[in-house]
Amino acid sequence: ASYANGSLNLLKDPSAEPQTLDDVHMALQRIAEQAERAGRVINSVHDFVRRREQAREAVAPQALLDAIAPLVSLQARKLHVRVHTRVEARLPPVWCDRTMVEQVLLNLARNGMQAMDRKEIVHRVLVLQVGLAACNQDNTWVEFAVTDVGTGITPEVEAQLFNPFFTTKSEGMGLGLSLCRTVVEQHGGHLVFEPQAPKGMVFRFTLPAEHVGKPTLAA
Ligand code: ADP
Repeated sequence: ASYANGSLNLLKDPSAEPQTLDDVHMALQRIAEQAERAGRVINSVHDFVRRREQAREAVAPQALLDAIAPLVSLQARKLHVRVHTRVEARLPPVWCDRTMVEQVLLNLARNGMQAMDRKEIVHRVLVLQVGLAACNQDNTWVEFAVTDVGTGITPEVEAQLFNPFFTTKSEGMGLGLSLCRTVVEQHGGHLVFEPQAPKGMVFRFTLPAEHVGKPTLAA
């Protein structure tokens, strides 16, 4: 875009010297190179998404929590957080890309724990919950919820929460929630959040139970 704008300015300049055309030529070459590079980036993201489509499998919700447990415990110990896990009995397996969903859970748990990392918050509890979501006709959805008793979210933060690179942390990347939402939506689910009384937040997301998301032979 910079090269294109520069070229337009050069072409508009009434006092342009003959050598201006050489500059425009060089700039157009750079534009072509960068457009090709952008195309390569898009292709590699596309490949990545295609590969991930094939990575879906039936996974017990408990197995997803077990996979992130070591990392969650590590951070919980460091930040003096107690972690409670509640998994409803007899839940169906979910049909998902387990690596990506584990990242979603990990990110939500991490955000929750960091939101409680304040001197004034003495009883720091993070609750990881899984249960059946409200069902509509023949679809079954499993709901994951991550609840903290942290600082909560102000309206100003809320307005930007899912913007890529929005962060209030000195070391934050601000990519967590925007990626979480993309991953959940790629699975056909939804990611929502709401304040918790008396304080803190709950982030919930849904994933399809095995038979919903699984491609049939006819598909
Ligand atoms: P990062 O963790 O790198 O900042 P995220 O996209 O995961 O990126 O989060 C963006 C911002 O949303 C955080 O910086 C924080 O201000 C806010 N946030 C996310 N989760 C919570 C939570 N559970 N409680 C309070 N604030 C939160």
